[in-house]
Amino acid sequence: MSQTPSNIQRAAVIGAGTMGRGIVMCLANAGVAVQWVDNNPQMLEQALTSVADTYAHSVRQGRIDQAEADDRIARVTTAPDYAAIRDVDLVIEAVYENLELKQKIFRELDALLKPEAILASNTSALDIDTIAAVTRRPQQVLGLHFFSPAHIMKLLEIVRGAQTAPAVLEAALALGKRMGKVSIVAGNCPGFIGNRMLRTYTHEARKMLLEGAFPHQVDAALQGFGFAMGPFRMYDVVGVDLEWRARQLSGTGQDAPQFQVDNRLCEAGRFGQKSGNGYYHYEPGSRQAEHDPQVDALVLQVSEDLGFHRREIGPEEVLERCLLALVNEGAKILEEGIAGSAHDIDLVYLNGYGFPADKGGPMAWADQQGLADVHQRLVALETRQGDHWRPARLIGELAAGGKGFADK
Ligand code: NAD
Repeated sequence: MSQTPSNIQRAAVIGAGTMGRGIVMCLANAGVAVQWVDNNPQMLEQALTSVADTYAHSVRQGRIDQAEADDRIARVTTAPDYAAIRDVDLVIEAVYENLELKQKIFRELDALLKPEAILASNTSALDIDTIAAVTRRPQQVLGLHFFSPAHIMKLLEIVRGAQTAPAVLEAALALGKRMGKVSIVAGNCPGFIGNRMLRTYTHEARKMLLEGAFPHQVDAALQGFGFAMGPFRMYDVVGVDLEWRARQLSGTGQDAPQFQVDNRLCEAGRFGQKSGNGYYHYEPGSRQAEHDPQVDALVLQVSEDLGFHRREIGPEEVLERCLLALVNEGAKILEEGIAGSAHDIDLVYLNGYGFPADKGGPMAWADQQGLADVHQRLVALETRQGDHWRPARLIGELAAGGKGFADK
């Protein structure tokens, strides 16, 4: 195997969208020279201006001085093509979430870049091994999953492919440290640690809308527990349409009952904050989520159309279902070795998903409840709600031994 650069000095970022912009700043802030590529030159121009604006804002706020801002900006240059970035130590790809597109880019990069260069993808959920498989250097390929906004969010999921070399993981961990990130190594599975757990949590939140709750009630319960924002406010921030478009593209999931509220919102052009309406209403120029009775009416209509008999759902049930969904999936992730420890899962949730710090993370919270108790509550949910609540094997085993996740 070629010598992996242990100290990354030069990097390239492919894609100048939301994530590319933040990632470029993370690298420049850490003293890494960055070359930036986007197949849309206008996008690249806009992105450079936006990075310069962000640094100017930091100077005005007194967070960095002008000389530091100038140094950081000077580290960022644009590149016309992949031939121009052939000598970099690391490439981070942040283009659209599309497997074929990412594979095409990795194939081209593999052909042009020096053999020891590391190729990383910022994919949120795609299979790192399938991307690595199109290269001749799968040992040099990994996921570097940043969170939005990348230059602010502390979390970095470092996704280990089946063939990723230990030295490549070490280099990524060292870079994460230089960027000031909380870096967590995750195994390769759909959604890795954070988004895989999030899927089960939002599944419950959405189901409760059909069964009797309204978005503001679900959010209020979780925010009352201490989450930075509830799932529906979160969808408004990231864009309700992202998953809707992904379902349309992949042709899967669109008919599932729990997505029908999202579908109707998107069909009505309610994409979230960016369109002024989503699960909430936003006054022009404001990010303040305002309760919108039209959304409640839409939720009522959807659940009636689907034949649900609505019932009162209190904050206790919201917490029970959303938190235990996280815990049960977290346990499976631990059991499968996708996460190295329960503490790693907690760090993902504390630093990337707004889980309340004083509760220590979902797995620490479960340990505080006692796993025997958690197990019983999951069995009760399984009886009431169905198979998807079957407790993870690990929970039963730890509970039987009087242990917690922290003992694993
Ligand atoms: P975006 O749509 O904002 O930006 C994508 C950029 O890629 C655009 O500038 C586009 O011009 C460019 N691009 C497309 N095809 C290209 C090509 N062939 N060569 C070079 N550039 C090309 O997307 P985003 O939100 O920044 O997401 C990028 C990636 O990061 C996706 O894989 C996404 O799943 C992942 N991600 C997104 C978030 C988020 O919150 N937005 C969070 C974590 C990870």
